Amino acid sequence: AKQRGKSRIVVYNKKMREGVVNVLAMEQDLIRALKAGEFEPYFQPIVNLADGTLYGFETLTRWNHPDRGMVSPGEFIPVAEETGLIVELGIRILEEACHVMEGWRQKYPAARDLNIAVNISARQFSEAALATSVGRILDSTGLPASCLKLEITETVVMLDAVKSVNQLNMLKKLGIMLSIDDFGTGYSSMSYLQKFPTDQLKIDLSFVQRMETAPENIEIVRAIVNMAHSLRLRVVAEGIETERQRDLLYSLQCDYGQGYLYSKPLPKAEAEEFVKNSE
Ligand code: C2E
Ligand code: CA
Ligand code: CA
Ligand code: CA
Repeated sequence: AKQRGKSRIVVYNKKMREGVVNVLAMEQDLIRALKAGEFEPYFQPIVNLADGTLYGFETLTRWNHPDRGMVSPGEFIPVAEETGLIVELGIRILEEACHVMEGWRQKYPAARDLNIAVNISARQFSEAALATSVGRILDSTGLPASCLKLEITETVVMLDAVKSVNQLNMLKKLGIMLSIDDFGTGYSSMSYLQKFPTDQLKIDLSFVQRMETAPENIEIVRAIVNMAHSLRLRVVAEGIETERQRDLLYSLQCDYGQGYLYSKPLPKAEAEEFVKNSE
């Protein structure tokens, strides 16, 4: 019976990708899910590559669907984005992530130096009110601005680089950290990277994972790290699954790492164990 249930879900998913009608159906489901509180932030540890100590977490959202089980963000974020629901969902996730991190900071002295990263979608980034919303959430949760990091993809910031400079400056004024996500998959120009008030670059996992099989990726990563450091940016590598990848990245002077080698994204209680053990 389980088998049948599974295959039915696959068909449902495929259909979901077809046509406006199904997007509308998922939109209704997303609205319901927001009301029902079915979205749950998971937290993936980010470590200092030098010694493996905890540096912070990235918040990755899961949809705990009553019929479909855990739905991955790759499936619902695009629909939330298309329908505009991402703005409401994004605010909720941001609020929850800041609240959780502030709770840990209050509870564990070692958590005082940690930071929490939250993904910001294209639609959210284009909202004029974004910085105001972020400021309000920092006030209401009590999380120090320096403990929050927003991740915005390279593709999104480069879409309208002139506008992005303004938006990033407004966010930076709050005192938060800014990171350019999926770096290497879009087209950045050095001159803009220099104008963006960003703190970090995150190397896309595709480069990290191909380093072993296609060594030219080692050179790409080396070039990204060197360029980033010359602009005084820190570098995070995502998708680290093997010791070899970790060793290579460390030898290339990458600063921070994240991936299954260290931990999968974890529900709050399990992530808290990580914080506790870092004391
Ligand atoms: P992303 O921001 O690039 O996140 C990295 C993805 O890589 C996550 O997938 C993470 O679970 C996965 N990952 C981490 N370590 C490894 C590893 O060692 N190996 C492999 N193969 N994968 C690894 P996830 O959680 O499915 O999220 C997918 C994307 O959905 C994210 O990509 C992000 O763009 C988006 N997303 C997730 N949560 C949110 C959210 O709250 N808001 C927004 N706007 N987007 C989100
Ligand atoms: Ca991210
Ligand atoms: Ca990424
Ligand atoms: Ca990605």
